[in-house]
Amino acid sequence: MTYKSLHLVVNGLVQGVGFRPFVYRIATLNGLKGWVQNTNENVRIEVTGTPQQLDHFMHALRNEAPPASWLEDISAMEIETRLFPDFVIRDSYDLSDEITEISPDIAVCDACLDDISRQGSRLNYPFVNCTNCGPRFTIIQDLPYDRPKTTMKPFDLCPSCKEEYETVSDRRFHAQPIACRNCGPHYELFVQGTKVSDQISNILQRVSHCMEEGGLVLIKGLGGMHLACDAFNEQAVKRLREIKHREGKPFAVMFRDLDSLKPFVQLDEEEEQSLTSWRRPIVLLEKSGYSNCQELAISLNAGLSLIGVMLPYMPFHHLLFGKLKTPAIVLTSGNFSSEPILIDNDTTLTAFSPLVDAVVLYNRAIYNRTDDSVVRIIANRERVFRRSRGYVPAPIRTDFDAEGIVSFGAELTNCFCVGKGKKAFVSQHIGDLKGLETALFYDQTLLQFLQLFRIKPSLLAVDMHPEYISTKKGATFGDLPLIQVQHHHAHIASCMAEHKLDERVIGIALDGTGFGTDGHSWGSEFMLCDLNDFERLAHFDYVPLPGGDHAAEEPWRMAVSYLYKVFGADFIHLELPFLRQLDGDNLKLLLQMIDRKINCPLTSGAGRLFDCVASLLDLVQVATFQAEGPMRLESIVNKNCSESYPFVFQEGIICFDETIRGIVDDVLSGVDPSIISAKFHNTIILTIFGFATDCRLKNGINKVVLSGGVFQNKYLLEGATDVLLKNNFQIYSHTAVPTNDGGIALGQLAVASKRRELKCV
Ligand code: ZN
Ligand code: ZN
Ligand code: FE
Repeated sequence: MTYKSLHLVVNGLVQGVGFRPFVYRIATLNGLKGWVQNTNENVRIEVTGTPQQLDHFMHALRNEAPPASWLEDISAMEIETRLFPDFVIRDSYDLSDEITEISPDIAVCDACLDDISRQGSRLNYPFVNCTNCGPRFTIIQDLPYDRPKTTMKPFDLCPSCKEEYETVSDRRFHAQPIACRNCGPHYELFVQGTKVSDQISNILQRVSHCMEEGGLVLIKGLGGMHLACDAFNEQAVKRLREIKHREGKPFAVMFRDLDSLKPFVQLDEEEEQSLTSWRRPIVLLEKSGYSNCQELAISLNAGLSLIGVMLPYMPFHHLLFGKLKTPAIVLTSGNFSSEPILIDNDTTLTAFSPLVDAVVLYNRAIYNRTDDSVVRIIANRERVFRRSRGYVPAPIRTDFDAEGIVSFGAELTNCFCVGKGKKAFVSQHIGDLKGLETALFYDQTLLQFLQLFRIKPSLLAVDMHPEYISTKKGATFGDLPLIQVQHHHAHIASCMAEHKLDERVIGIALDGTGFGTDGHSWGSEFMLCDLNDFERLAHFDYVPLPGGDHAAEEPWRMAVSYLYKVFGADFIHLELPFLRQLDGDNLKLLLQMIDRKINCPLTSGAGRLFDCVASLLDLVQVATFQAEGPMRLESIVNKNCSESYPFVFQEGIICFDETIRGIVDDVLSGVDPSIISAKFHNTIILTIFGFATDCRLKNGINKVVLSGGVFQNKYLLEGATDVLLKNNFQIYSHTAVPTNDGGIALGQLAVASKRRELKCV
């Protein structure tokens, strides 16, 4: 018999996802001898066997890897034949400053749920996990990923866990967070700040009873604290809003399982896939029009047609639903509005004990804070709107050299990004940097990322906005070259990086606001661009933004601004319902501001135009959460209407005066708002199509890249995609990275890398 030996190097997401036990299994199954080993860079394997055995092994390696793993590449080299006595898993070791990837947290697997219901030391034990599931990123402090470098360190393994940990054929072989009720962490229940129980069955009993009675409970989750209550109890949901100081922003709901969810929403195959994936994000779903079951609390989602839904992902969730009669609970982040999600036990107890009826904590620390991620299926693909638990810290694989670049992101929906080789590590969702606590979260997480991924910063990238807190952080970070990237160029570059584009493209960025090179507030940028630079070819006509940032919170200001622009002072006499409700003095003041150009920067923000229309239709006058106007407008769109309004596209200015006249006429003649909304959306789609067509004709470029927060709008993105595809454009939009400002940092990093390559730094 002839034997051959192979040396294999496997790159990708291969640690903490049950990869080595998998290799052990397929090696021994195929009668191979040799070893497998984790390094901080990758997984290495040497195997000896017959050519046929090796073929089978390679086939299995490529095709049967564990679900949460991701193989970037496998390099196989034939080496001099070595005879090994057996197949072993060698100890991990540190090779260099290179790193392997870190697994995001993985929802509890079915086998572990099974153990929870019958395995002696894990009966009802809410920290059950195995190599295929459990906490990862949230507990990791450093690499290589071994228990002493996680927040499981204080928990010494009991003899039976130790045996499982060391038994290669066991599902918990080298499962770093392995635990049982004899040795692992435990939950504790507090009422009015006093510990009342540490027995899980008692805790579940009391918590479920409390929620059933309409109580509010704070529950420690995987990446931070959650506030929970019965999703059918309007009083409880209202009370939750009061303590969070969050007037209107929709709450996420966790359903017991798919079957209990189905009567409440419309669900297609892709949505079901996202919901049940091991990442377990919040999926934005359309409520079903008819429901013959109990009604969810009205104030859950402020009357919107969309609802954010997720399924249980921690063992505790499953155990809780085992006790609860209600099939759905609100599960929203445990924080005060504009602050990051809380992770610390003591702080939480102090802050929330007086506000809620019970607090459920556990005694393992959360090291990396993560929120629940939010996705929406648009044009049959998952689009990540908030990228955090279950997604981070998987890198975005790019085609450029990202080494040592740190990009600081935008301000409101902030993520930062650090580069290692060709990988871009986008941070978890950080939030609004104007909040002091959030800014601290930013600083701390940036340090953690630099350490975890062994990054030596050599180039910094920031937004052009001089007042962004992230820009200031970049400017004071250290004595390193600093690149400023225009906000909308960063949006397009982000989408290009995601799709590995490095050429001239047609870029269309629609969002709320971003600092423009002319000092105005941009937000509807139609450009020709590459990663290095952009040429702004067109934009929506400027209008005054009365009150600056304030105008984004009060859509009526935008409606007045547009009406004044189109009709002059005569607009006052229009019989528009929303005008009748306005306070006369406020209105007068606003017009004076516009006339005298006091605190009235000019804006081309697409979001502001959506706000204006939402106000004209009287959907919202004062927003209670970000992008409420656009969301309400999309919420009512009549999908069967193909009409649109006129607009003028001349010399790079897209003027909506005729659109506004059309909308006003329709409102005055009582056309249904759902039709007006559809006609307006169709108008925006036409501006996109019109520009792309014109640009292709003049420049011979066929690739259209769409980015910016406005493309979270499903009707708009699907409509634009549809018409562009039908006209043979190649079209690119975000999937893995947020199209909102959460994606800005990746774009900044891409531009910085390109400029460094071109030696423009
Ligand atoms: Zn498991
Ligand atoms: Zn144990
Ligand atoms: Fe933006």
